[in-house]
Amino acid sequence: MIQSLKGFRDILPGDVEVWQHMEMTARDLFEDFGFKEIRPPVMEKTELFKRSIGEETDIVGKEMYTFKSRGGKSITLRPEATASVVRSYIQHKMYAVEPVRKLYTIGPMFRSENPQQGRYRQFYQINAEVFGIASPLIDAQLIFMLMTFFSRLQVKDIGAHINSLGCKKCRPEFHKALSVLLSKVGDSLCDDCNKRSLKNPLRTLDCKVTSCRNALAEAPAIVDFLCEECTEHFDAVKRFLDRQGISFEVDKQLVRGLDYYTRTTFEIQTGLLGAQNAVAGGGRYDGLVKALGGPEQPAIGFAVGCDRLIEIMTLDKKAYMKNPSVFVAALGTQSMDMAYGWVCELNNIGIPTEMDYSGRSLKSQMKRADRMNAAYVLIVGEEEIKKGEAVLRDMNTKEQALIPLNSIVDNLQKALKIRNTKHETRNNIK
Ligand code: AMP
Repeated sequence: MIQSLKGFRDILPGDVEVWQHMEMTARDLFEDFGFKEIRPPVMEKTELFKRSIGEETDIVGKEMYTFKSRGGKSITLRPEATASVVRSYIQHKMYAVEPVRKLYTIGPMFRSENPQQGRYRQFYQINAEVFGIASPLIDAQLIFMLMTFFSRLQVKDIGAHINSLGCKKCRPEFHKALSVLLSKVGDSLCDDCNKRSLKNPLRTLDCKVTSCRNALAEAPAIVDFLCEECTEHFDAVKRFLDRQGISFEVDKQLVRGLDYYTRTTFEIQTGLLGAQNAVAGGGRYDGLVKALGGPEQPAIGFAVGCDRLIEIMTLDKKAYMKNPSVFVAALGTQSMDMAYGWVCELNNIGIPTEMDYSGRSLKSQMKRADRMNAAYVLIVGEEEIKKGEAVLRDMNTKEQALIPLNSIVDNLQKALKIRNTKHETRNNIK
């Protein structure tokens, strides 16, 4: 038997309905906030990720699925979406017509990490990116939108952690202070952090290795080095969050694993997932559009980890199962013939309808209808055809009614509506 790859998994019917609900909730909310969907490809030139994420990051250094194309070019399955969205913003010159763009995308990302609970090699993200707005209003609004999204999905035990990473102006001073510490504790740092110390000291603060964490516990905090503009910006973000009643914690040690972040950075953490406690992360990346060959445009975005979000949603998963409203139990060739037409027509007008295709006994068809959680069964056999009436059985109350076979689709529609208002059914019948 061929099994799926390690770290890659199937999301099966029974689970997928909750995923659909999560995605719909995101689409509804984000589009109300003015976001438009964008669907970039899942594969890009490797160079895009190297340049945007940074060569010394774990993602680029160790985790990318990189191949040679048949033509010998280096291509990579995207490990995250921001780089692709930025590439697209630049490639299609979106900034030329209207620099302010709010874009969202939903889809799979690929990282060759060690699979464990909450960490997969193919995982899903919902991304939102805003281009062309430098104002702290949008930083706060984005976090507000994100927290609203979580609350619509009834996610409990989450908190927003925010920090500011400063800008080109204030970072050098901070780097200097950090480098002094790094040169003292070099022996306790992992090999990667020793390399990072030279190339990008900020990266060391994101390292998960315990000896590095311990050695850097007393590391200087970048918020203590912010320039005046960055301080004002960060203060305004906090003020706007307060105004919308969003509680947050300033986490001075919060740095993001990607190179291009500036100023506001945030992570939504949960206490429900053990080590993999981040369900979403994001921040400002004012330098990236320019770095990738576009014009100077500020930008900010976030990524929600769908796999982790699904784990902590407290919704009743059964409520999202789509069950048939009607199951046609047809007995005999003539009835099956008729049932075939009804099933097509009813589904076409939005009444989810199923039938048995193999002409089994009434008992086994009823069992199947029950297993499928059908709200009603429409029974039609030779007897019913003779009488010109089919039997409609409410699977909840067990009540039965006769439905004339003439214009049965209309009659059924009427009967279902009346019965639907009379009884609490297991399904919503349109
Ligand atoms: P990042 O792009 O690393 O900032 O990740 C954004 C979010 O994606 C994280 O907060 C996680 O929820 C999720 N995520 C990142 N890597 C994985 C993974 N390997 N498996 C599942 N979710 C992940």
